[in-house]
Amino acid sequence: MQITGLSKVFFCNSGAEANDGAMKLAKLHTKKNSFISTNNAFHGRTIGSLGATANIKYRDPFVPLVKPATFVEYGDASAIEKAITADTAGVILEPIQGEGGVHISNKEYLKEVREICDKNDLILIFDEVQTGFGRTGKWFCKDHYHVQPDILTMAKAIGGGLPMGAIAARDGLSFEKGEHGTTFGGSPLVCAASLAVIETIEEDKLLENSTAMGQYFLEKLGQMKRDDVVGIRGMGLMIGIELNHECGYFMDAAAEKGVLLNVTAGNVIRLLPPLTIQKEEVDRVVEVIESIQKP
Ligand SMILES: *Cc1c(COP(=O)(O)O)cnc(C)c1O
Repeated sequence: MQITGLSKVFFCNSGAEANDGAMKLAKLHTKKNSFISTNNAFHGRTIGSLGATANIKYRDPFVPLVKPATFVEYGDASAIEKAITADTAGVILEPIQGEGGVHISNKEYLKEVREICDKNDLILIFDEVQTGFGRTGKWFCKDHYHVQPDILTMAKAIGGGLPMGAIAARDGLSFEKGEHGTTFGGSPLVCAASLAVIETIEEDKLLENSTAMGQYFLEKLGQMKRDDVVGIRGMGLMIGIELNHECGYFMDAAAEKGVLLNVTAGNVIRLLPPLTIQKEEVDRVVEVIESIQKP
């Protein structure tokens, strides 16, 4: 809770479940039903969180969903303002879009969205399921922007590999007894694991390592001799390398050489290395990426 800067936490089991819970909380609080999300957003695969996930690949087989969000261009705060209706409960956003291709929001965007939400009494939800827990060099990506959401969702790294999610909310936003719940949420096992994760990040100075190795990564990737790179972007150890062609084959090709990477949005190599990564390993990863050619 301390690291989130918010005042209450509900523990659950996954990121999708955290986002479902966050949207339930926003609905309860505002008595409204719709959400604004962004193009390319990924918020999970439950019926509720799918409604805020942009990619039709994930949604189409399951329509009609309960109530899909209205999707607007990521990075354009005025688009959010224009999309507000009398039924809008809140806005859900990733401070950096992960699945969507590692899109980093510009400095003003999150601040402007915060102001728009304040002005219109909307609940602002930051989905930090991927960007949280040191990934970008701070506990949460929002800390780079000094913008506080009303609700923050997290999962993925927080249990150190065990299934755990959490919803943190500001003062004045909470469920009454019985309004929300889950059998396994906040079990002693996953909470002990999560505390160990927090301790390890602090003791081993992994936020600092995330920042330093992230910078080193960007430097090294920038020196690659490849003529198909359109852009390299990153914050801490969340890095995207956009190529001018589809590059799904990179996953298998790199795995064969001992490097696990992912490809999102079709043409973006996404790197989410362990926060413990060291220079020699960065060098190796860059070497492997540099060497992969079209099959
Ligand atoms: C992975 C992810 C989710 C979904 O989390 P699950 O634990 O797989 O349900 C939601 N939002 C973002 C930004 C994610 O990266």
